[in-house]
Amino acid sequence: MSSRSDLGPKPRLGYTDSRIERAAELRTDAAALARLAADPKAGAYVIAIDLIVMKKGASLDEPFFAMDEARALGTTTEAIFLGHIDGAPRFGIGLEPAVAETLKAREDFHVTDLRSIAVRGLVQPEHLPPIAEAKAVLHWHARHRFCPNCGAPTQPVCGGWRRDCAVCEVQHFPRTDPVVIMLAIDGENCLLGRSPRFVPTMWSCLAGFVEPGESIEDAVHRETREEAGIACGRVTYFRSQPWPFPASLMIGCHAEAITREIVIDRTELEDARWFSRDEVMAMLMRKHPDGLTTPPPVAIAHHIIRAWLEDEIRFD
Ligand SMILES: [Zn+2]
Repeated sequence: MSSRSDLGPKPRLGYTDSRIERAAELRTDAAALARLAADPKAGAYVIAIDLIVMKKGASLDEPFFAMDEARALGTTTEAIFLGHIDGAPRFGIGLEPAVAETLKAREDFHVTDLRSIAVRGLVQPEHLPPIAEAKAVLHWHARHRFCPNCGAPTQPVCGGWRRDCAVCEVQHFPRTDPVVIMLAIDGENCLLGRSPRFVPTMWSCLAGFVEPGESIEDAVHRETREEAGIACGRVTYFRSQPWPFPASLMIGCHAEAITREIVIDRTELEDARWFSRDEVMAMLMRKHPDGLTTPPPVAIAHHIIRAWLEDEIRFD
């Protein structure tokens, strides 16, 4: 057995540790929301579905706009009251995608997707959680303009945290979709897979949506069996991460593998195999002889894998 590994300080997990105080009690107070939007300290993140608009900076880009500055960019959609940080109100403002496309040509703006921003570290890390919050809620608005109950148009209310149907009077709330992401462990080996969507050298934990009527443990068992043919026993919760692509909650787990023979579901995975602790260590440290890697620290998979390497989890 390898000794406990020292990988140095733990990196920050992307989109977590938000400094936002959501102040949900203010969402139903229209007068308070109007005052917050008019506050000179108020500001907004500007998002056109998958594109984030930022002011180009010398080293880091600036994704935070004064309210007037945000609205002057072009046709906007919903405004979401995200909450406040140190008393300064923060909003997420939706921008028409066509406007964002035209801003791409401007020298003073940088318009790109949130994955790139997070992986490449384009903004101060404290901006990532509120951008994730705004992006997920704005995406929900864009996809819920009509009532799923009766088909009539719905209207945003409560600072963007609800849509109401005036015809059947049903209230609709933003949703988040739970996803289990797990590392199956067999002693000194772990199971990693490759999605066809991954860059060619990257291997990661298996993952899948939790289905209605399923516990987290059931979902871990089912996904590991379906995707790789591996049966699991014990499941332990590790930590979670909002994943705004478009609105998931990643639920990180470790699972005790109780079988070893892999049967790959080729519709889900390009490949899957067992990796030794030493090989995974080399991948995480970016020292693998074949250039294989684990996902970057912005993703929870990195942290799930690292926790196993650092012996935070054992099933023996
Ligand atoms: Zn309705």
